[in-house]
Amino acid sequence: MYINGEFCDSEDGQTFMATDPANGEVIAEISKAGISDTKKSVDAARKAFDSGVWSGLSGEERSRILKQLVDKINENAEKLTGLEVKDSGSTVRKAGEDIFLSAKSLNYFSKAAAVNFNEDIPGLSKEGVSKNIIRYEPVGVCALIIPWNFPLKMAIWKLGPALAAGNTVILKPAMETSVTACELAKLISETEIPKGVVNIITGSGSVIGTELVKNPDVDKVGFTGSTEVGKIIMQNASSNLKKITLECGGKSANIVLDDADIEMSIDGAIYAAFYHQGQCCEGGTRLLLHEKIYDKFISGLKEKVERMKIGDPADKSVTVGPVVNQDQFDTVMKYIKTGIEEGAEILTGGKQSGSEGLFIEPTVFVNVENKMKIAQEEIFGPVLVVIKFKDDDEAVSIANDSVFGLAGAVWSGNDERALSIADKLRTGTVWINEYHLLSDRAPFGGYKQSGIGREFGTEGMKEYMEAKHIHIDEIKDRSKKPWYRTVVPKDS
Ligand code: NAD
Ligand code: MN
Repeated sequence: MYINGEFCDSEDGQTFMATDPANGEVIAEISKAGISDTKKSVDAARKAFDSGVWSGLSGEERSRILKQLVDKINENAEKLTGLEVKDSGSTVRKAGEDIFLSAKSLNYFSKAAAVNFNEDIPGLSKEGVSKNIIRYEPVGVCALIIPWNFPLKMAIWKLGPALAAGNTVILKPAMETSVTACELAKLISETEIPKGVVNIITGSGSVIGTELVKNPDVDKVGFTGSTEVGKIIMQNASSNLKKITLECGGKSANIVLDDADIEMSIDGAIYAAFYHQGQCCEGGTRLLLHEKIYDKFISGLKEKVERMKIGDPADKSVTVGPVVNQDQFDTVMKYIKTGIEEGAEILTGGKQSGSEGLFIEPTVFVNVENKMKIAQEEIFGPVLVVIKFKDDDEAVSIANDSVFGLAGAVWSGNDERALSIADKLRTGTVWINEYHLLSDRAPFGGYKQSGIGREFGTEGMKEYMEAKHIHIDEIKDRSKKPWYRTVVPKDS
C-alpha cells in the first residue's frame, strides 16, 4: 500500500491473493488493510490537504506535475496492460485500450487543472455597485472507491478530476483487481506529487470502504460500483453530510429501428452487450428490435455470436475472456437459469465454455418480456435479452421501464427520427449508431438508480469542487447603503 508517500504493509500483516480468472493462478500477494491502516491513510490525506502543499499550488503547477504521471503511464503501458489481463481477465485488446484511454483522460484532467473555472458575475444591486466573484475550491479529502471492470481506468477517472481540482485522496481499488493500482502507486512515487496527496489502500469494501465513508475527516466520496453498495454509501456518508458522487449500475436499452443498417447494428449489438464479457455498467444489455427487421436480425445475430472467439485473454485474436471471479460466474449462471424458468428462450449460449477457467458462452435470450428479472436486473455478464417492439413510442416506453438510467443507443438511417427517441430516453448517455464511446469533455453518469453526479467535462470537474461566492461591495459611503434606514437606527 502507499500511505503518506511510503510503501507499507498492513499493520496486522494480513494479505489476500490476486488471481488470474483464466486459470486460477495466484499472481500477487497484496496487503489487506484494516481500520487502523485506513485511519492512517485518511490522516495523511487530511494533513496534506490542510497544509496546502497541493491545493496551494497554482493550477498550472498541478497541471505540470499531473502530466508527469501521464507520461509514466504511457511509458509503462505494455506492463500495465499485461497486469490488467492477468488480474482481471480483460482481453489484451480491451486492456490495451484501457491503459491508452487512462493516459488520455489523465492528460485531459491535467489540462483542466490549469483552467480557471472562476467567474465574475454582475453586481447584485440595481446600481451594479458590487463586484461578485465565484471561486471554485477543492472539496478537501476525497475517498475514491472503484470497481473491478476497468481497474486502472476507473482509478484515473476519479484521481484525475480530484487531483486537478486540488483535493487530496485515498484510493481504494476493488479486491478482485488491485494490482494495477499498486503499480500506479509506484509511478506516483516517481512524480513530484507531494507525499500524502495520493494514498492507496487495498482491502475489503465492507471493512475499509465503510471506514472511509464514515470517517469524519473525509469530505467527499467518489464511488463507482453496484447500486446496492451505492445506497449503503449514501446512508453512511450522511454521518457528516459528505459530498457524494455515485456511478452505479445499468440495464441500458439498445434500440434498432426498421430503417437501420442491419449488418452494422448486429455488430453494434454484439459490441454493446458483450464487450468485456458484458461486465460494463453502460452495456447495451436489452436489445430492442423493431418487428419488421426482427427475424432477419435474430438469425444474423445468432450466426455472428457463435463465431466469437472465447479463450486465453492474452491471445490478440480472442474477443471473449473469462468473467472476473467465481462469484460473478455463479451469479451469471444463476441468471441464465432464472431466464429459462421465467419462460424466455435461449437463442444461443447458456453454458460454461470449456472446463478450466471462468468462461461463459455469450448468451442471447429471445421471447423476453421487459418485466422479467433478466430484463430488469443488472446481470453484469455475457447475457443479452432481446425484446420486440412495433413502433417508436413502444420502444421508448420499454426502454424507460427500468429502475436504471445510465445509457442507451438508437440505430437508424434517420438521425432526426433517432434524435427524437434520444430526447425521450431518461438516461445520462444516448448513442446514435454507436456504443460505449465516451468523451473526456462530455458528462457521463446516471439518471434514476444509476447514480448521482457526473464524471468528465466541466460537470465532472465541479463534482470535486466547492463553489464560493465572494461579494465585494463598492458603496463606501454608509448613508448610501440600500439597507441604511431599514434596520439601522438613526444617528442620535
Ligand atoms: P461493488 O459495488 O461490489 O464494489 C465496488 C467497490 O465498492 C469495491 O471497491 C468494493 O470493495 C467497494 N465496497 C463494497 N462494499 C462497500 C461498502 N459497504 N462501503 C464502501 N465500499 C464498499 O461493485 P463491483 O462488483 O466491484 O462492480 C460492479 C458494479 O459496478 C456493477 O453494478 C456496475 O454496473 C457498476 N459500475 C458502474 C459504473 C458506472 O460508471 N456507472 C462503472 C463500472 C461499474
Ligand atoms: Mn484478479
